[in-house]
Amino acid sequence: MPIIVLKDGESAREVESKLSDLGVEYKRLTVYNKHIIVAWPDSKLRNVDLGPAVQAVIFTKTPYMLVSKEFIQESSFDFGKVRVGKDILIVAGPCAVESEEQMLETAKAVKKAGAHALRGGAFKPRTSPYTFQGLGEEGLKILAKAREETGLPVVTEAMDTRHVSLVAQYADAIQIGARNAQNFNLLKEVGKVRKPVFLKRGFGMLIDETLLAAEYIVLEGNDRIAIVERGIRTFEKSTRFTLDIAAVPVIKSKSHLPVIVDPSHPAGRRDLVEPLALAAIAAGADGLLIEVHIEPERALCDAEQQLTPEQFSQLMSKIRRLAEVLGRTVP
Ligand code: PEP
Ligand code: MN
Repeated sequence: MPIIVLKDGESAREVESKLSDLGVEYKRLTVYNKHIIVAWPDSKLRNVDLGPAVQAVIFTKTPYMLVSKEFIQESSFDFGKVRVGKDILIVAGPCAVESEEQMLETAKAVKKAGAHALRGGAFKPRTSPYTFQGLGEEGLKILAKAREETGLPVVTEAMDTRHVSLVAQYADAIQIGARNAQNFNLLKEVGKVRKPVFLKRGFGMLIDETLLAAEYIVLEGNDRIAIVERGIRTFEKSTRFTLDIAAVPVIKSKSHLPVIVDPSHPAGRRDLVEPLALAAIAAGADGLLIEVHIEPERALCDAEQQLTPEQFSQLMSKIRRLAEVLGRTVP
């Protein structure tokens, strides 16, 4: 698929009128500091002279041209004090925001242990409608307070196109959950927001499908995206999901996007979180998204898999030691 890279300072007008004449679809964008026009299908664009404003035309072999390595080698973005995609990012916090006390206590504890950012769902995608659905906007306000008290940026999920601007008002980054990873209208909506997006891989999705989901976001102009591997469905029942550890190097071989691993949801139980987290870092992950609760056994969701602050703190020291061996930095 072709990406037309424009020369600096050149107007796109002539190129766009040629593309219109050819009858192709196109979209002008500035992403990753490049002025480009993406156009499709490529069959109509081979051997066409688009004029002097064009610096290069990149024909990618993959259908996800904007997130592929054929476009750029690496991408990274700032999130709090961490350059995501370069240094290791640790996001920690409860599955759900349950109360001000629970969120603030957990936030302070994970900050003390060295987390760089907070997580916590205000809108929860629950399998059963009879379980805790999240505090909604009240939860977002609590997250904002936790940020104020700790200075840590917050990541929280947007489940619905109707809530994207509300979530973006409070959050520093928006999470797209596994169950919504192919909700294309939601992907387009977060693509219009100028906040980083943590896009989870759906548990029934191929890696290529996940990259195409990310492509939807970049195509709207939002180029700050990290993919989150959080486990897929397999025949194995000993774990909640099967953590596809190979997805880390595979995504990195196909795409320039940073890859974060969520070891909590595939583990489904506390004792498996640490080995999965360390395996993820060893496999080259750019960070971790970990569930931590001040009192896990009393958690309103995912009680079995949330770490205590003490367990998280011990895990942090192991992550630091492992990172050192691997020559990676944990700010
Ligand atoms: C979560 O992070 O709380 C969550 C619901 O995760 P997932 O979408 O991966 O199931
Ligand atoms: Mn959870």
